[in-house]
Amino acid sequence: MTAERPRVVIVGGGFGGLAAARGLARAPVDVTLVDRTNHHLFQPLLYQVATAGLSPAEIASPIRRILRRQRNARVLLGEAVAIDTATRRVRLADGEIGWDYLVVAVGASHSYFGRDEWEAHAPGLKTLDDALEIRRRALVAYEEAEREDDAEARRPWLTFVVVGGGPTGVEMAGAFAEVARHTLARDFRRIDPRAARVLLVEAGPRILPTYPEGLSEKAQRQLEALGVQVWTGAAVTGVDASGVQVGGDRIAARTVVWAAGVQASPLARSLGVPLARAGRVRVLPDLTVPGQPAVFVIGDLAAVEQEGGLVPGVAPAAIQMGEHAARNVLRALRGEPLLPFRYRDKGSLATIGRKSGVADFGWVRLSGPLAWLAWLTVHIFFLIGFRNRFVVLFTWAWAYLTYDRSARLILGRGEPAPSRPSPPRPPGSTPSSAG
Ligand SMILES: Cc1cc2nc3c(=O)[nH]c(=O)nc-3n(C[C@H](O)[C@H](O)[C@H](O)COP(=O)(O)OP(=O)(O)OC[C@H]3O[C@@H](n4cnc5c(N)ncnc54)[C@H](O)[C@@H]3O)c2cc1C
Repeated sequence: MTAERPRVVIVGGGFGGLAAARGLARAPVDVTLVDRTNHHLFQPLLYQVATAGLSPAEIASPIRRILRRQRNARVLLGEAVAIDTATRRVRLADGEIGWDYLVVAVGASHSYFGRDEWEAHAPGLKTLDDALEIRRRALVAYEEAEREDDAEARRPWLTFVVVGGGPTGVEMAGAFAEVARHTLARDFRRIDPRAARVLLVEAGPRILPTYPEGLSEKAQRQLEALGVQVWTGAAVTGVDASGVQVGGDRIAARTVVWAAGVQASPLARSLGVPLARAGRVRVLPDLTVPGQPAVFVIGDLAAVEQEGGLVPGVAPAAIQMGEHAARNVLRALRGEPLLPFRYRDKGSLATIGRKSGVADFGWVRLSGPLAWLAWLTVHIFFLIGFRNRFVVLFTWAWAYLTYDRSARLILGRGEPAPSRPSPPRPPGSTPSSAG
Protein backbone atom coordinates (compact mmCIF):
# COMPACT_ATOMS: atom_id res chain seq x y z
CA MET A 1 0.00 0.00 0.00
CA THR A 2 1.18 3.54 -0.69
CA ALA A 3 0.46 6.77 1.13
CA GLU A 4 -0.51 8.58 -2.10
CA ARG A 5 -3.39 6.37 -3.12
CA PRO A 6 -6.92 7.38 -2.12
CA ARG A 7 -7.98 5.73 1.12
CA VAL A 8 -11.32 3.94 1.09
CA VAL A 9 -12.53 2.95 4.53
CA ILE A 10 -15.34 0.42 4.79
CA VAL A 11 -16.99 0.02 8.17
CA GLY A 12 -18.68 -3.37 8.49
CA GLY A 13 -17.71 -6.69 6.91
CA GLY A 14 -21.23 -8.03 6.39
CA PHE A 15 -22.88 -8.61 3.03
CA GLY A 16 -22.69 -4.96 1.95
CA GLY A 17 -19.20 -4.11 3.23
CA LEU A 18 -17.64 -7.24 1.82
CA ALA A 19 -19.22 -6.67 -1.61
CA ALA A 20 -17.88 -3.10 -1.60
CA ALA A 21 -14.37 -4.30 -0.70
CA ARG A 22 -14.40 -6.95 -3.40
CA GLY A 23 -15.73 -4.42 -5.91
CA LEU A 24 -12.59 -2.37 -5.35
CA ALA A 25 -10.18 -5.30 -5.74
CA ARG A 26 -8.55 -3.96 -8.90
CA ALA A 27 -8.92 -0.26 -8.12
CA PRO A 28 -5.91 2.00 -7.47
CA VAL A 29 -7.00 2.64 -3.89
CA ASP A 30 -6.06 1.43 -0.43
CA VAL A 31 -9.04 -0.27 1.18
CA THR A 32 -9.35 -0.62 4.95
CA LEU A 33 -12.21 -2.77 6.18
CA VAL A 34 -13.04 -2.39 9.87
CA ASP A 35 -15.36 -4.74 11.71
CA ARG A 36 -15.99 -5.27 15.40
CA THR A 37 -15.93 -9.03 14.86
CA ASN A 38 -13.25 -10.93 12.99
CA HIS A 39 -15.78 -12.84 10.88
CA HIS A 40 -18.28 -12.38 8.12
CA LEU A 41 -21.52 -13.98 9.23
CA PHE A 42 -24.06 -15.65 6.98
CA GLN A 43 -27.09 -14.42 8.92
CA PRO A 44 -29.72 -16.34 6.92
CA LEU A 45 -28.46 -19.55 8.56
CA LEU A 46 -28.16 -18.18 12.10
CA TYR A 47 -31.39 -19.87 13.11
CA GLN A 48 -29.71 -23.20 12.33
CA VAL A 49 -27.04 -22.43 14.94
CA ALA A 50 -29.71 -21.29 17.40
CA THR A 51 -31.51 -24.62 16.96
CA ALA A 52 -28.40 -26.81 17.04
CA GLY A 53 -28.47 -27.76 13.37
CA LEU A 54 -25.14 -26.16 12.46
CA SER A 55 -22.04 -25.04 14.34
CA PRO A 56 -20.86 -21.41 14.32
CA ALA A 57 -17.80 -22.00 12.13
CA GLU A 58 -20.02 -23.48 9.42
CA ILE A 59 -21.82 -20.20 8.79
CA ALA A 60 -19.03 -17.70 9.42
CA SER A 61 -15.58 -17.08 7.94
CA PRO A 62 -12.76 -14.85 9.11
CA ILE A 63 -12.90 -11.63 7.07
CA ARG A 64 -9.11 -11.65 6.96
CA ARG A 65 -9.19 -14.99 5.19
CA ILE A 66 -11.89 -13.94 2.72
CA LEU A 67 -9.81 -10.93 1.66
CA ARG A 68 -6.38 -12.51 1.94
CA ARG A 69 -5.79 -12.48 -1.82
CA GLN A 70 -6.95 -8.90 -2.25
CA ARG A 71 -3.65 -7.10 -1.99
CA ASN A 72 -5.07 -3.56 -1.80
CA ALA A 73 -7.22 -4.44 1.23
CA ARG A 74 -6.35 -4.63 4.89
CA VAL A 75 -8.64 -5.75 7.67
CA LEU A 76 -8.85 -4.19 11.10
CA LEU A 77 -10.65 -5.49 14.14
CA GLY A 78 -12.26 -2.49 15.79
CA GLU A 79 -15.56 -0.97 16.84
CA ALA A 80 -16.56 2.28 15.15
CA VAL A 81 -18.21 4.59 17.68
CA ALA A 82 -18.63 7.78 15.64
CA ILE A 83 -18.12 9.23 12.19
CA ASP A 84 -16.70 12.72 11.96
CA THR A 85 -17.47 14.03 8.49
CA ALA A 86 -15.79 17.40 9.18
CA THR A 87 -12.36 15.86 9.78
CA ARG A 88 -13.02 12.76 7.61
CA ARG A 89 -12.24 10.34 10.39
CA VAL A 90 -13.92 7.27 11.79
CA ARG A 91 -13.57 7.19 15.54
CA LEU A 92 -13.01 3.71 16.92
CA ALA A 93 -13.41 2.62 20.52
CA ASP A 94 -9.62 2.64 20.66
CA GLY A 95 -8.28 4.88 17.91
CA GLU A 96 -9.30 6.49 14.65
CA ILE A 97 -8.86 6.15 10.88
CA GLY A 98 -8.92 8.83 8.20
CA TRP A 99 -10.63 8.34 4.85
CA ASP A 100 -10.96 9.89 1.41
CA TYR A 101 -14.03 7.76 0.67
CA LEU A 102 -16.13 6.10 3.33
CA VAL A 103 -18.59 3.22 3.00
CA VAL A 104 -20.71 2.64 6.09
CA ALA A 105 -22.23 -0.85 6.21
CA VAL A 106 -22.80 -1.64 9.87
CA GLY A 107 -26.29 -3.09 9.43
CA ALA A 108 -29.08 -3.22 11.97
CA SER A 109 -29.98 -4.96 15.21
CA HIS A 110 -33.27 -5.86 16.90
CA SER A 111 -35.69 -3.34 18.26
CA TYR A 112 -37.91 -3.90 21.27
CA PHE A 113 -40.11 -0.90 20.45
CA GLY A 114 -38.83 1.03 23.43
CA ARG A 115 -39.14 -1.92 25.85
CA ASP A 116 -35.44 -2.73 26.10
CA GLU A 117 -36.01 -4.52 29.41
CA TRP A 118 -37.59 -7.36 27.41
CA GLU A 119 -34.29 -8.20 25.77
CA ALA A 120 -32.92 -10.10 28.78
CA HIS A 121 -35.87 -12.50 28.63
CA ALA A 122 -36.36 -12.64 24.87
CA PRO A 123 -33.02 -12.48 23.06
CA GLY A 124 -33.04 -11.55 19.40
CA LEU A 125 -31.06 -13.30 16.70
CA LYS A 126 -28.39 -11.22 15.02
CA THR A 127 -24.94 -12.44 16.02
CA LEU A 128 -23.31 -15.78 16.72
CA ASP A 129 -23.39 -14.93 20.43
CA ASP A 130 -27.16 -14.45 20.18
CA ALA A 131 -27.55 -17.79 18.41
CA LEU A 132 -25.45 -19.64 20.99
CA GLU A 133 -27.41 -18.03 23.82
CA ILE A 134 -30.73 -19.08 22.31
CA ARG A 135 -29.38 -22.60 21.75
CA ARG A 136 -28.20 -22.71 25.35
CA ARG A 137 -31.57 -21.58 26.70
CA ALA A 138 -33.54 -24.02 24.57
CA LEU A 139 -31.36 -27.02 25.42
CA VAL A 140 -31.22 -26.10 29.13
CA ALA A 141 -35.03 -25.91 29.10
CA TYR A 142 -35.28 -29.60 28.18
CA GLU A 143 -32.71 -30.48 30.85
CA GLU A 144 -34.63 -28.52 33.49
CA ALA A 145 -37.89 -30.15 32.41
CA GLU A 146 -36.30 -33.59 32.77
CA ARG A 147 -35.28 -32.75 36.34
CA GLU A 148 -38.56 -31.15 37.36
CA ASP A 149 -40.80 -33.32 39.54
CA ASP A 150 -43.91 -31.24 39.31
CA ALA A 151 -45.82 -31.56 36.02
CA GLU A 152 -47.26 -28.06 36.34
CA ALA A 153 -43.84 -26.51 36.91
CA ARG A 154 -42.45 -28.53 34.02
CA ARG A 155 -44.77 -27.00 31.44
CA PRO A 156 -43.07 -23.57 31.08
CA TRP A 157 -39.76 -25.32 30.43
CA LEU A 158 -41.38 -27.12 27.53
CA THR A 159 -42.98 -24.01 26.07
CA PHE A 160 -41.10 -22.14 23.35
CA VAL A 161 -42.42 -18.80 22.17
CA VAL A 162 -41.17 -17.01 19.07
CA VAL A 163 -42.31 -13.40 18.78
CA GLY A 164 -42.59 -12.10 15.22
CA GLY A 165 -43.88 -13.93 12.15
CA GLY A 166 -41.36 -12.72 9.57
CA PRO A 167 -38.99 -15.19 7.85
CA THR A 168 -36.70 -15.50 10.90
CA GLY A 169 -39.61 -16.16 13.28
CA VAL A 170 -41.14 -18.71 10.91
CA GLU A 171 -37.82 -20.53 10.48
CA MET A 172 -37.11 -20.52 14.22
CA ALA A 173 -40.57 -21.83 15.12
CA GLY A 174 -40.37 -24.59 12.50
CA ALA A 175 -36.94 -25.66 13.72
CA PHE A 176 -37.99 -25.61 17.40
CA ALA A 177 -40.92 -27.86 16.51
CA GLU A 178 -38.69 -30.28 14.66
CA VAL A 179 -36.21 -30.47 17.51
CA ALA A 180 -39.08 -31.32 19.84
CA ARG A 181 -40.92 -33.79 17.61
CA HIS A 182 -37.97 -35.60 16.09
CA THR A 183 -34.44 -34.73 17.21
CA LEU A 184 -34.97 -35.08 20.95
CA ALA A 185 -37.93 -37.45 20.85
CA ARG A 186 -36.01 -40.43 22.21
CA ASP A 187 -33.30 -38.73 24.25
CA PHE A 188 -35.09 -38.23 27.57
CA ARG A 189 -36.51 -40.67 30.08
CA ARG A 190 -39.03 -38.70 32.12
CA ILE A 191 -40.27 -36.10 29.70
CA ASP A 192 -41.65 -36.54 26.25
CA PRO A 193 -40.10 -33.72 24.18
CA ARG A 194 -42.82 -34.25 21.58
CA ALA A 195 -45.24 -32.73 24.08
CA ALA A 196 -43.36 -29.41 23.93
CA ARG A 197 -45.47 -26.45 22.87
CA VAL A 198 -44.10 -24.13 20.20
CA LEU A 199 -45.96 -20.89 19.72
CA LEU A 200 -45.40 -18.28 17.01
CA VAL A 201 -46.94 -14.93 17.93
CA GLU A 202 -47.45 -12.27 15.26
CA ALA A 203 -49.06 -8.87 15.86
CA GLY A 204 -50.16 -8.40 12.23
CA PRO A 205 -53.00 -10.23 10.52
CA ARG A 206 -50.74 -12.84 8.88
CA ILE A 207 -47.28 -14.33 9.07
CA LEU A 208 -44.72 -13.53 6.34
CA PRO A 209 -46.41 -10.19 5.65
CA THR A 210 -44.06 -9.30 2.78
CA TYR A 211 -45.02 -12.46 0.87
CA PRO A 212 -48.14 -12.87 -1.26
CA GLU A 213 -51.16 -13.76 0.88
CA GLY A 214 -51.49 -17.27 -0.56
CA LEU A 215 -47.93 -18.14 0.47
CA SER A 216 -48.51 -16.78 3.99
CA GLU A 217 -51.47 -19.13 4.35
CA LYS A 218 -49.47 -22.07 3.04
CA ALA A 219 -46.61 -21.26 5.41
CA GLN A 220 -49.05 -21.19 8.33
CA ARG A 221 -50.49 -24.56 7.33
CA GLN A 222 -47.00 -26.07 7.01
CA LEU A 223 -46.07 -24.77 10.44
CA GLU A 224 -49.25 -26.14 11.96
CA ALA A 225 -48.54 -29.52 10.36
CA LEU A 226 -45.26 -29.49 12.28
CA GLY A 227 -47.20 -28.81 15.49
CA VAL A 228 -46.54 -25.06 15.81
CA GLN A 229 -49.40 -22.97 17.17
CA VAL A 230 -49.62 -19.77 15.13
CA TRP A 231 -51.30 -16.75 16.72
CA THR A 232 -51.85 -13.83 14.39
CA GLY A 233 -53.29 -10.44 15.34
CA ALA A 234 -51.65 -11.06 18.70
CA ALA A 235 -49.46 -8.25 20.00
CA VAL A 236 -47.06 -9.02 22.81
CA THR A 237 -47.67 -6.58 25.67
CA GLY A 238 -45.20 -7.90 28.21
CA VAL A 239 -42.17 -10.18 28.52
CA ASP A 240 -40.54 -11.23 31.78
CA ALA A 241 -38.52 -14.08 33.24
CA SER A 242 -41.52 -16.38 33.49
CA GLY A 243 -43.23 -15.77 30.18
CA VAL A 244 -45.07 -13.58 27.75
CA GLN A 245 -48.23 -11.51 27.97
CA VAL A 246 -50.28 -11.37 24.79
CA GLY A 247 -53.17 -9.02 25.48
CA GLY A 248 -55.29 -10.85 28.06
CA ASP A 249 -53.44 -14.17 27.63
CA ARG A 250 -50.53 -15.19 29.78
CA ILE A 251 -48.11 -17.75 28.33
CA ALA A 252 -45.77 -19.25 30.89
CA ALA A 253 -42.59 -19.95 28.91
CA ARG A 254 -38.91 -20.24 29.77
CA THR A 255 -37.63 -19.87 26.22
CA VAL A 256 -38.72 -16.79 24.34
CA VAL A 257 -37.07 -15.57 21.14
CA TRP A 258 -37.54 -12.09 19.74
CA ALA A 259 -37.83 -11.83 15.97
CA ALA A 260 -40.15 -8.86 15.82
CA GLY A 261 -38.37 -5.65 14.93
CA VAL A 262 -35.19 -4.16 13.55
CA GLN A 263 -33.40 -0.95 14.22
CA ALA A 264 -30.44 0.52 12.35
CA SER A 265 -27.07 0.77 14.06
CA PRO A 266 -26.76 3.78 16.39
CA LEU A 267 -23.66 4.78 14.39
CA ALA A 268 -26.09 6.34 11.89
CA ARG A 269 -26.84 9.18 14.32
CA SER A 270 -23.25 10.41 14.26
CA LEU A 271 -23.59 11.27 10.55
CA GLY A 272 -25.74 14.20 11.65
CA VAL A 273 -28.37 13.79 8.91
CA PRO A 274 -32.12 13.21 9.34
CA LEU A 275 -32.92 9.52 9.77
CA ALA A 276 -35.80 7.54 8.29
CA ARG A 277 -37.96 4.96 10.08
CA ALA A 278 -36.07 2.52 12.32
CA GLY A 279 -33.08 4.87 12.37
CA ARG A 280 -31.94 4.13 8.81
CA VAL A 281 -30.01 6.78 6.89
CA ARG A 282 -31.99 8.33 4.06
CA VAL A 283 -29.43 8.28 1.25
CA LEU A 284 -29.49 9.91 -2.17
CA PRO A 285 -30.15 7.69 -5.21
CA ASP A 286 -26.38 7.26 -5.71
CA LEU A 287 -26.15 5.92 -2.12
CA THR A 288 -24.25 8.92 -0.74
CA VAL A 289 -25.33 10.84 2.31
CA PRO A 290 -26.91 14.24 1.55
CA GLY A 291 -24.17 16.87 1.60
CA GLN A 292 -21.41 14.24 1.81
CA PRO A 293 -20.49 13.08 -1.72
CA ALA A 294 -17.64 10.89 -0.43
CA VAL A 295 -19.73 9.04 2.20
CA PHE A 296 -21.79 6.05 1.11
CA VAL A 297 -24.26 4.26 3.37
CA ILE A 298 -25.40 0.81 2.24
CA GLY A 299 -27.22 -2.34 3.29
CA ASP A 300 -29.60 -2.53 6.24
CA LEU A 301 -28.40 0.86 7.46
CA ALA A 302 -29.59 2.65 4.33
CA ALA A 303 -33.12 3.80 3.55
CA VAL A 304 -33.20 3.71 -0.25
CA GLU A 305 -36.39 4.72 -1.98
CA GLN A 306 -37.45 2.90 -5.09
CA GLU A 307 -40.83 2.93 -6.79
CA GLY A 308 -42.54 4.56 -3.84
CA GLY A 309 -41.25 2.06 -1.29
CA LEU A 310 -38.02 1.27 0.52
CA VAL A 311 -35.56 -1.32 -0.72
CA PRO A 312 -35.92 -4.26 1.74
CA GLY A 313 -33.31 -5.08 4.35
CA VAL A 314 -32.16 -8.33 2.80
CA ALA A 315 -28.79 -9.79 1.86
CA PRO A 316 -29.10 -9.42 -1.96
CA ALA A 317 -29.96 -5.72 -1.55
CA ALA A 318 -26.91 -5.19 0.69
CA ILE A 319 -24.66 -7.01 -1.79
CA GLN A 320 -25.99 -5.02 -4.75
CA MET A 321 -25.54 -1.76 -2.83
CA GLY A 322 -21.97 -2.73 -1.90
CA GLU A 323 -21.14 -3.44 -5.54
CA HIS A 324 -22.78 -0.20 -6.59
CA ALA A 325 -20.95 1.90 -3.98
CA ALA A 326 -17.65 0.43 -5.22
CA ARG A 327 -18.55 1.36 -8.81
CA ASN A 328 -19.44 4.88 -7.73
CA VAL A 329 -16.17 5.30 -5.82
CA LEU A 330 -14.34 4.39 -9.03
CA ARG A 331 -16.46 6.86 -11.01
CA ALA A 332 -15.74 9.61 -8.48
CA LEU A 333 -12.02 8.89 -8.77
CA ARG A 334 -12.26 9.29 -12.53
CA GLY A 335 -14.26 12.51 -12.13
CA GLU A 336 -17.39 10.93 -13.63
CA PRO A 337 -20.89 11.59 -12.30
CA LEU A 338 -22.21 9.01 -9.83
CA LEU A 339 -24.93 6.63 -11.02
CA PRO A 340 -28.22 5.99 -9.21
CA PHE A 341 -28.69 2.61 -7.55
CA ARG A 342 -31.37 0.24 -8.75
CA TYR A 343 -32.33 -2.84 -6.73
CA ARG A 344 -33.06 -6.00 -8.69
CA ASP A 345 -35.34 -8.18 -6.61
CA LYS A 346 -34.58 -11.84 -7.32
CA GLY A 347 -37.21 -13.20 -4.93
CA SER A 348 -37.72 -14.30 -1.33
CA LEU A 349 -37.42 -17.68 0.29
CA ALA A 350 -38.24 -19.04 3.74
CA THR A 351 -37.87 -22.59 4.97
CA ILE A 352 -40.21 -24.39 7.34
CA GLY A 353 -38.73 -27.45 8.95
CA ARG A 354 -36.60 -29.88 7.04
CA LYS A 355 -38.52 -30.22 3.80
CA SER A 356 -41.08 -27.44 3.49
CA GLY A 357 -40.94 -23.79 2.68
CA VAL A 358 -42.29 -20.96 0.59
CA ALA A 359 -40.60 -19.11 -2.28
CA ASP A 360 -41.70 -16.08 -4.26
CA PHE A 361 -39.62 -15.39 -7.35
CA GLY A 362 -42.18 -13.01 -8.85
CA TRP A 363 -42.60 -15.07 -12.03
CA VAL A 364 -43.20 -18.27 -10.04
CA ARG A 365 -44.37 -19.02 -6.51
CA LEU A 366 -43.53 -22.28 -4.80
CA SER A 367 -44.45 -23.95 -1.55
CA GLY A 368 -43.65 -27.28 0.09
CA PRO A 369 -40.65 -29.46 -0.83
CA LEU A 370 -39.87 -27.61 -4.09
CA ALA A 371 -39.55 -24.31 -2.23
CA TRP A 372 -37.38 -26.02 0.35
CA LEU A 373 -35.12 -27.38 -2.40
CA ALA A 374 -34.82 -23.91 -3.93
CA TRP A 375 -34.00 -22.50 -0.48
CA LEU A 376 -31.34 -25.15 0.07
CA THR A 377 -29.71 -24.56 -3.32
CA VAL A 378 -29.59 -20.78 -2.90
CA HIS A 379 -28.17 -20.97 0.61
CA ILE A 380 -25.47 -23.46 -0.28
CA PHE A 381 -24.56 -21.39 -3.32
CA PHE A 382 -24.21 -18.11 -1.43
CA LEU A 383 -22.49 -19.50 1.65
CA ILE A 384 -18.93 -18.26 1.68
CA GLY A 385 -16.12 -20.80 1.42
CA PHE A 386 -15.98 -24.19 -0.26
CA ARG A 387 -15.41 -25.98 3.04
CA ASN A 388 -18.50 -24.42 4.58
CA ARG A 389 -20.62 -25.37 1.58
CA PHE A 390 -19.39 -28.92 1.72
CA VAL A 391 -19.79 -29.32 5.48
CA VAL A 392 -23.24 -27.71 5.55
CA LEU A 393 -24.45 -29.87 2.69
CA PHE A 394 -23.15 -32.98 4.42
CA THR A 395 -24.63 -31.94 7.79
CA TRP A 396 -28.01 -31.28 6.20
CA ALA A 397 -27.97 -34.55 4.30
CA TRP A 398 -27.21 -36.34 7.56
CA ALA A 399 -29.94 -34.43 9.40
CA TYR A 400 -32.37 -35.16 6.59
CA LEU A 401 -31.78 -38.88 6.85
CA THR A 402 -31.57 -39.15 10.64
CA TYR A 403 -33.37 -36.06 12.03
CA ASP A 404 -30.23 -35.59 14.10
CA ARG A 405 -28.89 -32.14 15.02
CA SER A 406 -25.31 -32.62 15.89
CA ALA A 407 -24.55 -29.21 17.43
CA ARG A 408 -26.55 -29.87 20.60
CA LEU A 409 -23.96 -28.55 22.99
CA ILE A 410 -24.81 -26.40 25.96
CA LEU A 411 -22.07 -23.79 26.08
CA GLY A 412 -21.66 -20.59 28.04
CA ARG A 413 -23.14 -19.82 31.39
CA GLY A 414 -26.40 -17.96 31.75
CA GLU A 415 -28.20 -16.96 34.90
CA PRO A 416 -29.05 -19.90 37.14
CA ALA A 417 -32.57 -21.15 36.57
CA PRO A 418 -34.69 -18.85 38.75
CA SER A 419 -37.52 -21.25 39.49
CA ARG A 420 -35.46 -24.09 40.89
CA PRO A 421 -36.05 -23.90 44.63
CA SER A 422 -34.18 -26.98 45.77
CA PRO A 423 -30.41 -27.33 45.74
CA PRO A 424 -28.87 -29.72 43.19
CA ARG A 425 -29.47 -33.32 44.09
CA PRO A 426 -26.51 -35.22 45.48
CA PRO A 427 -24.84 -37.56 43.00
CA GLY A 428 -26.59 -40.90 42.74
CA SER A 429 -29.96 -39.67 44.01
CA THR A 430 -33.04 -40.26 41.90
CA PRO A 431 -35.99 -38.03 41.16
CA SER A 432 -38.87 -38.52 43.58
CA SER A 433 -41.65 -39.05 41.10
CA ALA A 434 -41.95 -40.23 37.55
CA GLY A 435 -42.94 -37.77 34.82
C1 LIG B 1 -31.51 -14.06 11.67
C2 LIG B 1 -31.49 -13.38 10.33
C3 LIG B 1 -31.91 -14.07 9.20
C4 LIG B 1 -31.89 -13.46 7.97
N1 LIG B 1 -32.31 -14.18 6.86
C5 LIG B 1 -32.21 -13.62 5.65
C6 LIG B 1 -32.54 -14.38 4.48
O1 LIG B 1 -32.95 -15.54 4.59
N2 LIG B 1 -32.40 -13.78 3.28
C7 LIG B 1 -31.95 -12.50 3.15
O2 LIG B 1 -31.82 -12.01 2.04
N3 LIG B 1 -31.67 -11.75 4.22
C8 LIG B 1 -31.77 -12.29 5.47
N4 LIG B 1 -31.45 -11.54 6.57
C9 LIG B 1 -31.09 -10.12 6.40
C10 LIG B 1 -29.66 -9.97 5.96
O3 LIG B 1 -28.82 -10.76 6.75
C11 LIG B 1 -29.29 -8.51 6.04
O4 LIG B 1 -30.14 -7.78 5.21
C12 LIG B 1 -27.85 -8.28 5.64
O5 LIG B 1 -26.99 -8.96 6.51
C13 LIG B 1 -27.51 -6.80 5.65
O6 LIG B 1 -26.19 -6.64 5.28
P1 LIG B 1 -25.33 -5.43 5.86
O7 LIG B 1 -24.01 -5.51 5.19
O8 LIG B 1 -26.11 -4.18 5.77
O9 LIG B 1 -25.19 -5.72 7.41
P2 LIG B 1 -24.63 -7.00 8.15
O10 LIG B 1 -24.56 -8.18 7.26
O11 LIG B 1 -25.45 -7.10 9.39
O12 LIG B 1 -23.14 -6.60 8.52
C14 LIG B 1 -22.84 -5.58 9.41
C15 LIG B 1 -21.40 -5.76 9.85
O13 LIG B 1 -21.01 -4.60 10.55
C16 LIG B 1 -20.34 -4.96 11.73
N5 LIG B 1 -20.56 -3.87 12.67
C17 LIG B 1 -21.71 -3.48 13.24
N6 LIG B 1 -21.53 -2.40 14.00
C18 LIG B 1 -20.22 -2.10 13.91
C19 LIG B 1 -19.42 -1.07 14.48
N7 LIG B 1 -19.94 -0.13 15.27
N8 LIG B 1 -18.09 -1.06 14.19
C20 LIG B 1 -17.54 -2.01 13.38
N9 LIG B 1 -18.27 -3.00 12.82
C21 LIG B 1 -19.58 -3.03 13.07
C22 LIG B 1 -20.97 -6.26 12.15
O14 LIG B 1 -20.08 -7.01 12.97
C23 LIG B 1 -21.22 -6.92 10.81
O15 LIG B 1 -20.12 -7.70 10.39
C24 LIG B 1 -31.46 -12.12 7.84
C25 LIG B 1 -31.04 -11.43 8.97
C26 LIG B 1 -31.04 -12.05 10.21
C27 LIG B 1 -30.58 -11.30 11.42
